[in-house]
Amino acid sequence: MIKGIGTSNGIGIGRALLIENNIFNVKTTSGIGIEEEKNRFIQVKQAFIQETEKMIEKLQNKLGEQDKTALVLKNQIYLIKDEELCKEVIHLIENQHMCVEMAVEQTCQFFAGMFASMNSELMSQRVADIEDLKNRVLCLLSGDKQVDLSQLEPNTVIVANQLHPSVTAGMDTAHVVGIIAQKGGETSHAAILARALEIPAVLSVKNATELIKTGDLLIVDGEYGEVFVNPIPKTIQIFEKKKARYKEKVKELRKYINKKTKTADGSSVGLMANIGDENEAAKAMKSGAEGVGLFRTEFLFMNGKSMPTQEQQFEVYKKAAILCGDKPLTIRTLDIGGDKDIPYMGLTKEANPFLGYRAIRFCLGRIDIFTTQLKAILQASAYGNIRIMLPLITTIDEVIIGKKMIYDAMKELDKYNINYNKNIKIGIMVETPAAAFIADVLVKEADFFSIGTNDLTQYILAVDRGNEHVSYLYSVLNPAVLRAIKHVISCAKNGHIEVGMCGEAAANPNMIPLLLAFGLDEFSVSAAKVLETRKNIALWEKGEAKQIADKVLLMNTEKEITTYLNQVIFDKNSAVNGEK
Ligand code: PEP
Ligand code: MG
Repeated sequence: MIKGIGTSNGIGIGRALLIENNIFNVKTTSGIGIEEEKNRFIQVKQAFIQETEKMIEKLQNKLGEQDKTALVLKNQIYLIKDEELCKEVIHLIENQHMCVEMAVEQTCQFFAGMFASMNSELMSQRVADIEDLKNRVLCLLSGDKQVDLSQLEPNTVIVANQLHPSVTAGMDTAHVVGIIAQKGGETSHAAILARALEIPAVLSVKNATELIKTGDLLIVDGEYGEVFVNPIPKTIQIFEKKKARYKEKVKELRKYINKKTKTADGSSVGLMANIGDENEAAKAMKSGAEGVGLFRTEFLFMNGKSMPTQEQQFEVYKKAAILCGDKPLTIRTLDIGGDKDIPYMGLTKEANPFLGYRAIRFCLGRIDIFTTQLKAILQASAYGNIRIMLPLITTIDEVIIGKKMIYDAMKELDKYNINYNKNIKIGIMVETPAAAFIADVLVKEADFFSIGTNDLTQYILAVDRGNEHVSYLYSVLNPAVLRAIKHVISCAKNGHIEVGMCGEAAANPNMIPLLLAFGLDEFSVSAAKVLETRKNIALWEKGEAKQIADKVLLMNTEKEITTYLNQVIFDKNSAVNGEK
């Protein structure tokens, strides 16, 4: 068995097809004049844009109008139109007398190198996009055919060094049962497309193209990131069964798509989705979410080479608001620092970045950046049901000052007669021990709370959430974390404000009965977990959840709690399945 990162769920069993990217022998200098080469660049640009638009249209026909996944290909249109990229190509043609092929090759190499040096998953995605663009432009110039996967044998598993978005988008999806690649991760465009097309995918599989040959029989487990090469019949049997179970589960979950989120005894709770960009709002709505409980806006800042302007941000927030319709869209203001760096902002290296200049602390120090974002959010609030959420609050002053800055931003918009929602709700994330302890005070200033358990767990337990050496300590089921959560929820109840949870714990089946018992109003989970969470909420009656929570609160250790809850959940599922 070989391991990688499971990036699109499901199990695929089929024969390998190794694909190789085109190899080009690019000559250096031009045999024709500078003007002719410049014209060739203009022509190839046009041909590239047309070809990409056709691909987007084809993919959209496959996925449906509502699905915005096809827009990952739009990035390539933005890239080829990018002013700096075009300037550099023309510069090389004019000053170094290069032919278009070499000028494009060198320019792409330069930009890819720049993004690669930034060492982040998002930036490596940019590298993949640029490489894809380069290959496609060189194909168009040479007349070579790009790797063509539009007609495949049934039950094909695609194996590649790197799967470019354009290749994934053009795949004969009816016959592809799995994708394996040496490069790419959870957020790579190949992964996003695989998820949208519902093809199991395992990426970042080291030496895949050496270990696997065309024709090998493969099992791809997209959930656990495992690949079996020429497995024995017994393993195939086991995975055939798993595959059938997975299909059954997906079918079962689809039943929950248009249902209300209710406990077994009929109490309603909110079920929202967490999103990272405006296009995910469409996916969230499609998945049956009742709104967006967390829009992580930092990706908008991390994706570009410079600060997004007010206008650019406004367009993004407006689009998300329109996609959500009258359902709430909770926009979290910029949460950078900690593990999220933005190279062009020039943040200084800190000894303890998670305890340092991040999130609201950074925003209150950089009024220019914060105000620009606030004005863009407020402007977009005229187009939907937007709420503002401030991250990493530790003191009441941060909330008061943050709110004052929101009111100041409103005054600025008033000067230009720009419409916005004057009664916009302003909430906070409760994700520091300080905020949890003074939750009874914070209710006086916040319209709502959202518990960020990813950070709350790390800060309460003093355990770096990304450090594998101490990951054994990192658990939301630790009694200290559970007490904090219970306390925050009861302070919100006493203060008559809504309380949600947008950390990963909201989708944890073990946590659900506890959160229902504590009185959580709103669960916010990734789009992929919406239906499963709705199903898990429907398992419990409030009284039953309370009995479980009462027992858990008397337990002393995380291990005791986890063992007990695993058993309770297992029994519950067996009982429910047995009754059917
Ligand atoms: C959290 O901390 O729980 C949270 C939702 O925010 P992030 O994971 O973006 O820090
Ligand atoms: Mg957080």
